[in-house]
Amino acid sequence: MAKHKVSLKQVFKTIIWPRRKLLFLGLVLIVISRAAGLVPPWATKPFIDDILVKQDMGALPQLLLLVTGAILIQALTSFLLTKILSVEAQHLISVLRSKVQKHLLRLPTSFFDNQKSGALVSRVMNDVEGVRNLVGTGLVQLIGGILTAIISVGFLISINPWMTLFIILPMSVFGLITLKAFAYIRPIFRERGVITAEVTGRLTETLNGVRVIKGFNAEAQESKIFEQGVEKLFLNVKKSLTSTSFVTSSGTFLVGLASVGIMGLSGYFDLSPGDFLQFTMFMVFMIAPIVQMSNIGSQLTEAFAGLDRTEELMNISPEDDGTRTVRMDAIRGDITFKEVSFAYEEGKDVLNEISFNAPSGSVTALVGTSGSGKTTIAGLAASFLKPKSGMVTVDGTDLSQVVLESYRSQLGVVLQDDFLFEGSIRENILFPRPQATEVQLQAAVKAAHVDEFTDRFEKGLETVIGERGVKLSGGQRQRIAIARAILADPRILILDEATSNLDTESEALIQESLRSLMKGRTTFVIAHRLSTIRQADQILVIEQGNIVERGRHQELIEKKGRYFELYTYQARI
Ligand code: ADP
Repeated sequence: MAKHKVSLKQVFKTIIWPRRKLLFLGLVLIVISRAAGLVPPWATKPFIDDILVKQDMGALPQLLLLVTGAILIQALTSFLLTKILSVEAQHLISVLRSKVQKHLLRLPTSFFDNQKSGALVSRVMNDVEGVRNLVGTGLVQLIGGILTAIISVGFLISINPWMTLFIILPMSVFGLITLKAFAYIRPIFRERGVITAEVTGRLTETLNGVRVIKGFNAEAQESKIFEQGVEKLFLNVKKSLTSTSFVTSSGTFLVGLASVGIMGLSGYFDLSPGDFLQFTMFMVFMIAPIVQMSNIGSQLTEAFAGLDRTEELMNISPEDDGTRTVRMDAIRGDITFKEVSFAYEEGKDVLNEISFNAPSGSVTALVGTSGSGKTTIAGLAASFLKPKSGMVTVDGTDLSQVVLESYRSQLGVVLQDDFLFEGSIRENILFPRPQATEVQLQAAVKAAHVDEFTDRFEKGLETVIGERGVKLSGGQRQRIAIARAILADPRILILDEATSNLDTESEALIQESLRSLMKGRTTFVIAHRLSTIRQADQILVIEQGNIVERGRHQELIEKKGRYFELYTYQARI
């Protein structure tokens, strides 16, 4: 993926400007809050010079009232500020997350071949978190801090311009250091997101594949990889911590330096005790936001780095990019491959100009050794892949012109290791058609012989299956997947038959379920079961991306060619 940087203008246009009213309100609140915050330091002078030194106690209640009022206002405004802006920021985060997830699902399947799902989870959940600092209190505090600093400078000048100049100098140096530091930190933050995604991705895979890992006794190796990942993350954080701590401590050092100077100069300029204290207090009020700004600056830098990565993802073109214009709302399901070639990688053709017709309602069995191109053919028929040359047509229309959603709503896919999610068996079957009636659901459950085992479960269809369906046998999971496809009632069906050996009874039940499923649908089946192959209307024997033989079972057996070889020499095809 190309490096991409979100511009300030873009962020302003899409994130800040639409929220200008709220942010403006935030700004008003922060000005009030900061102005109220300036009252206590201001009050030090009248308190010392008028009340303490001159012993004029009459003015004390008034001063106390003023300071208390200011503190109250400050508390109230900062409460409102945090509440309003933080809520808005969290809302924006959820909106962005949904947007990124939606976009992800519109990306072609080839995108997911090269990505770890855990890494994508991190992209969706973590990368957008940073906007919290943009819309939340971060930005407003930055502006508020600048305002307070400016007002404080005004007061400082009014007390003593020369002394003010003396503290502005180290502050400017500090400003320069901060700017430099952030330019250095931004790529580090950017990289941090990438590393986090990588580590999360690997961890997700480890947990999903825990059986394989234990089976191969590879725990130590996985732990080592994870350790290396978190170490990398640690080094990244360390790198940015060095610069942020440098910023903070140089800030503290320069502030200290300024204070020492002020002490020295106060004797020289002959300030009253009140003036001196007031000057010092305002100095703190000027410096505090500047130091705080360096913190906020690092938050904003993080926000930008996250947005950079989000933007990168959002810039990948979705599979239906608007060039598809033909809607197919009711199809017959006549599929034709016309001299279709396909390559996953440039120069390595996986299919070579293959042509065949799968008439509406027919069953086409794809057989051949592993890696011959069967899944690729199924992927092309499912519109997951696009031909490099040639054309796949549906009822005579070029599939690459068809609006994907209109085609896919009439497509059903049942894969070997089918995807069951955490939830009840009922929810898993209803998943493609949540609005189906109970009668339709029961019909599908019966046709796929799911009731044969759910009837034995205490909770029947409501039984909750563990994550990845671990509590069900392979055959049972398959039947759930078949019931799901029957309920979806697609015109076109893509089936990848499981190769696992099942006991004869399960096998017979699955056979029967598959028969009900395939009836009347244009079916492409990556066939491993002899019974399926025997019943197919046409068998395509695939070899290195070519159809080397085609016909029905009996014809091909009699031909004594490649199919005959596969059939006789291998127990399973
Ligand atoms: P089959 O289903 O017959 O086992 P496939 O259609 O999956 O075969 O694969 C055909 C060829 O394409 C194989 O050589 C395989 O290595 C290659 N291939 C499959 N998927 C990809 C992919 N995502 N990227 C690159 N090459 C792939």
